[in-house]
Amino acid sequence: MREGMEILERPTFVTHLECGLSGERYACDRVHGLSRLAKPLLVRYDLNGLRDAVDRNTMAQRPADLWRYREFLPVRHAENIVSLGECRTPLIRMSRLRAGSGELVVKDESRLPTGSFKARGLCLAVSMAKELGIRRVAMPTNGNAGAALAAYASRAGIESYVFCPADTPEINVREIAAQGAHVWRVNGLIHDCGRIVGAGKEAEGWFDFSTLKEPYRIEGKKTMGLELADQCGWSLPDAIFYPTGGGTGLIGMWKAFQELDAIGWLEGKLPRMVAVQASGCAPIVKAFEEGSEQAELWPSAHTVAFGIRVPAAIGDFLILRAVRESNGFAIAVDDASILAARDEAARREGLLLCPEGAATYAAYRRAIADGRVRSSENVVLFNCASGLKYDLPPMPRTLDPGRTIGD
Ligand SMILES: *Cc1c(COP(=O)(O)O)cnc(C)c1O
Repeated sequence: MREGMEILERPTFVTHLECGLSGERYACDRVHGLSRLAKPLLVRYDLNGLRDAVDRNTMAQRPADLWRYREFLPVRHAENIVSLGECRTPLIRMSRLRAGSGELVVKDESRLPTGSFKARGLCLAVSMAKELGIRRVAMPTNGNAGAALAAYASRAGIESYVFCPADTPEINVREIAAQGAHVWRVNGLIHDCGRIVGAGKEAEGWFDFSTLKEPYRIEGKKTMGLELADQCGWSLPDAIFYPTGGGTGLIGMWKAFQELDAIGWLEGKLPRMVAVQASGCAPIVKAFEEGSEQAELWPSAHTVAFGIRVPAAIGDFLILRAVRESNGFAIAVDDASILAARDEAARREGLLLCPEGAATYAAYRRAIADGRVRSSENVVLFNCASGLKYDLPPMPRTLDPGRTIGD
């Protein structure tokens, strides 16, 4: 076992869980889904105790992986950690794509197990399921979350049931099946799949692993914020562009920054959080522009960026709150500009983004053009999955042996 995983030297600093809307408190170390108001639960920590127990220098001596931040995480017993090697993901400078003197950097989350940042969330959620004795879980997914669930659940000996919209990329459906989950294609969208999970809970004995319907996936995604701060010398960029579906990562990162801020670890100001959506499915952008605190269901959602095709997010109010508290904004880009952005990043920087990641670059260009971001500002984009999981443009050229390319 690696050094960082041998043992959690101290018990977790979790004090309780709390309803994201009402603040009502719930006991830790018990199985919880949503709050009484049917809203997501947030994990709260004894941050003073945490600050006394660990400092930035101690942390810097540990291996650079997700468990480096274990005091900020809810797992109580090290033997419950279900790990596939959650590495630190690199920050890659886009010196050709940047708009001016400000840095443009991609945090490349495609390097994680199962090829997407869903590994962070599911690593924590499955570890906590193991700790709490959960044996069967079910989830609706647009692909990557199901793949990460399948992998971590199989490793933990937990049974998993996964429901995907019928047009989910074939590779996702197959990797879910290959990694030992029971998987079905459903003739509908992700919220239709969610209804199947909800309806089967009682009869099948499933624990509902839908986005934000269990409390710990956010804590896993929170490590993106902890890691980014750590990598940036505890001084964050001016803006973070995040492809927003269910919003786990945006909510999680904002939570990370607030926890770090509360213990005085951050230098300088907090970044503006920018929620990027596709114009064929932009409920958060619409709510942001209308000044609403909640989003309405987006009808006939469509986009090539499957990971952000989420017509209704249960954490909508938490996404909107983070965007507004940070003085950020929400922005939509269409599929043509997403694909053009993917093409440009691959050709000019050699980085093959997934469509969701490409959406953040397309949004960056738009925000520079309309003045919402200045070209002197430092910006981080999130590439959340491997570009290899998606269809690429065909390559039709062939050559017979013995001929030259000029023939
Ligand atoms: C899930 C997913 C997203 C959206 O992430 P959330 O944190 O749930 O908003 C974006 N891109 C990809 C590739 C995904 O798999």
